[in-house]
Amino acid sequence: MAMRRGLLIILSSPSGAGKSTLARRLREWDPSIRFSVSATTRPPRPGEVNGRDYWFLTRAEFEAKVAAGEMLEHAEVFGHLYGTPRAPVEEAIAEGCDVLFDIDWQGGQQIRNSALGKHTLSIFILPPSIPELYRRLVSRASDPPEVIARRMQKSRDEISHWPEYDYVLVNDDLDVTAGRLETIVTAERMRLSQQPGIVDIVRRLNAEFEEWQKS
Ligand code: 5GP
Repeated sequence: MAMRRGLLIILSSPSGAGKSTLARRLREWDPSIRFSVSATTRPPRPGEVNGRDYWFLTRAEFEAKVAAGEMLEHAEVFGHLYGTPRAPVEEAIAEGCDVLFDIDWQGGQQIRNSALGKHTLSIFILPPSIPELYRRLVSRASDPPEVIARRMQKSRDEISHWPEYDYVLVNDDLDVTAGRLETIVTAERMRLSQQPGIVDIVRRLNAEFEEWQKS
């Protein structure tokens, strides 16, 4: 039976719109979805684990991987480099597994324009309001005010890229948004292009028609 290639599910949003929680919920809903662990040159935050949250690299290590063509995409965010290691993504989709990306609009654009572009499903998450976005950023309590101000500016920039995505969700209720995200992924998996095995099923149905006519 023809093998299905995995989907590249790109989730982008300004920070504070609930993207990480939604990414976790999607993977709890379907544990077969692999998460693309990005590489970054930013230092780990408390609780972050190397290889689970990010691959934490020095700038020299990161740049060597870019030069070797080992990054599917990369971008600079808040003065740090972020990028997607290519090999795990290619392996997963060749095995028919979907891969989830928590990346910014720059990464989304690069993946859509790459050789894997035709396998992408991109979803943008909007916050319900800007005061609410600010409240969520402040309540994380991990960042000093100037960092929060920078994140708000970056959020504005990020939001301006919403028209580049296939779907947009306004996250005013986490359970509702998580449900909609699952619906989008379910629908995308039912596309003809995602179901190469259908050819065999239709062939069998046609053979059964022939049998039925004879009887
Ligand atoms: P944070 O430092 O808060 O974890 O992430 C900052 C921003 O970088 C977020 O918008 C996140 O989606 C984005 N980001 C994380 N990993 C990657 C990546 O591999 N590529 C790109 N382009 N952006 C990323």
